[in-house]
Amino acid sequence: MESEIFNNIETEIKIILNKALQNIEISSEEALKLLKVHGKEFFALQYTANEICLEKKEDIITFVINRNINFTNVCFQGCKFCSFSLPANHEDAFCLNLDEIKDRVIEAKKLKCTEVCIQGGINPNLKFDFYLDILKVVKEVDKNMHTHAFSPQEIFFMSKLYSTSVENTLKELKMAGLDSIPGTAAEILVDDVRKIICPNKVSTQQWIDIISTAHNLKIPTTSTIMYGHIESLKERIEHLNVLREIQKETKGFTELVPLPFVKVNPILSKLEIHPLNPSYGMADLKLFCVSRLFLNNYVDNLQCSWPKLGPKFAQVSLNYGVNDFGGTLIEENISKSAGAEYGEYLPPEEIIKIIQTAGKHPAQRDTLYNIKKYY
Ligand code: SF4
Repeated sequence: MESEIFNNIETEIKIILNKALQNIEISSEEALKLLKVHGKEFFALQYTANEICLEKKEDIITFVINRNINFTNVCFQGCKFCSFSLPANHEDAFCLNLDEIKDRVIEAKKLKCTEVCIQGGINPNLKFDFYLDILKVVKEVDKNMHTHAFSPQEIFFMSKLYSTSVENTLKELKMAGLDSIPGTAAEILVDDVRKIICPNKVSTQQWIDIISTAHNLKIPTTSTIMYGHIESLKERIEHLNVLREIQKETKGFTELVPLPFVKVNPILSKLEIHPLNPSYGMADLKLFCVSRLFLNNYVDNLQCSWPKLGPKFAQVSLNYGVNDFGGTLIEENISKSAGAEYGEYLPPEEIIKIIQTAGKHPAQRDTLYNIKKYY
């Protein structure tokens, strides 16, 4: 029986939502219509996203105990949304040595982390062996620590340092201990947008090739979308469609993490010729719901980013198709440098409380979504 929430909503929206409820793929045009709904149609969208999420995940919200290690902030790429990177001669520029990285992994082990997430700027002073040594150091400390490391941009850079293909580079990294890759550097996978916000980064096709190569080598990755800057709603859907098409081929994505653009500090916020199209709360919630519907049958896990949304709004998102609260993180530098107000660490006890007070059931998972403990 159809829910009463579908009474008196626009027929066109009702047809799309009913399709999604029957696990039928929705088109890009249909997804775009859903990103624009308001009022009764918005609540019907929320209902649909939650129903699909409940069917897949019941009312369990997962989280992972992990820590970030941002080993260098030196970078020459000049992405306009980034306030983390600095030139090598800046007084605040840093590059951790292997001992300092090891100390952080030891600290992660003491905090019962199951994962370290390692990413850095594109630092021209580094050698390929340094990346391999980072991976070896992690496994020396704890061979069971999951190493989630190196963005596709870093992989691309390494393949140049190593003077070989991305495939060979990934094989070497895997042998040294790489377990999975963050699906960052994706931003918006539309070249017209990338030319403005990150003109020196890999193109859409290069990002697709690197990620697909990793998946084909049985290296899973996450996927992300950074939204709420200069992109249009249509371009948000084009991005989701790129992810969906990859996943149809490879099944290598573990999750989608929508990342709202933090606009306080980046130079991108000051470019008058490319005005921002910022995302406020309702647009965030609609994107979560539409992502849940659009990626249904392909990507089961939708994660909220508490460092960017704040813990309170991240809790709200758990009622909009989201089934994962992300990680404890520790030392979250990238959002902080862009001007995000929220903390760098949420202890597991606090995450559990946030999930429970949302009326959901928390469960600790590992990086690949195997449940380790229910609460
Ligand atoms: S987003 Fe990454 S690649 Fe771009 S400038 Fe910042 S650190 Fe460098």
